[in-house]
Amino acid sequence: MEARQKTIGMIGGMSWESTAEYYRLANQLTRDRLGGLHSASVLIASVDFAEIEEFQSRGEWSLAGAQLAEVARSLETAGAELLILCTNTMHKVAPAIEAAVSIPFLHLADATATAVRAAGIRTVGLLGTAFTMEQDFYRERLRGHGLEVVVPGEEDRALVHRVIYDELCRGLVGEESRAEFTRIIGLLADRGACGVILGCTEIELLVGPEHSPIPTFPTSRLHIEAAIAASFS
Ligand code: GLU
Repeated sequence: MEARQKTIGMIGGMSWESTAEYYRLANQLTRDRLGGLHSASVLIASVDFAEIEEFQSRGEWSLAGAQLAEVARSLETAGAELLILCTNTMHKVAPAIEAAVSIPFLHLADATATAVRAAGIRTVGLLGTAFTMEQDFYRERLRGHGLEVVVPGEEDRALVHRVIYDELCRGLVGEESRAEFTRIIGLLADRGACGVILGCTEIELLVGPEHSPIPTFPTSRLHIEAAIAASFS
């Protein structure tokens, strides 16, 4: 007999293209587990990504953190029993969110690093927004799990960042960008990466295992898998 499923609170909308995937996977994983007509107990609070993107580009992280902390509080009040933030980048303000609630917060980088280590990999490539690839909040968290992190060179980091904001977050998934990502992952592999973290929740909408010469670690999937497991514990 499975334990009652705890309600998962999702802070989403960043972008909604990947939040939709989180929602789909949450339900699919719950049905796989329970069968029949079962579906997931989920609350989604979806923000306007245009506002968040403005905070990001102006470097107004504390304003962004305050807004997302407020959203987190509203999910707790509405009955969420555990919380996830459906974007890698905005984990930069994870401390503000965690401090605002008393329910458990499942950090995306922890779920991802656990999967990378379970695959026996220590040196891993990282693709994501410039914030995620260049700043410490994410890479240090991975390093805390004993991982060595390799990121693309400057031009390729700019390309990956541009594809995320100009294409993937707008629902545009194109062959040309997919080929560029495959090329960039190949370069990370040449530099010793034995796997690659798709460290932006939209990248797995573009790149599947079949497009990569090394194992991929899709962060939306890994994060929601960890959240579903926690929701039944
Ligand atoms: N969803 C993306 C991520 O996982 C990028 C959008 C954002 O900046 O939040 O980082």
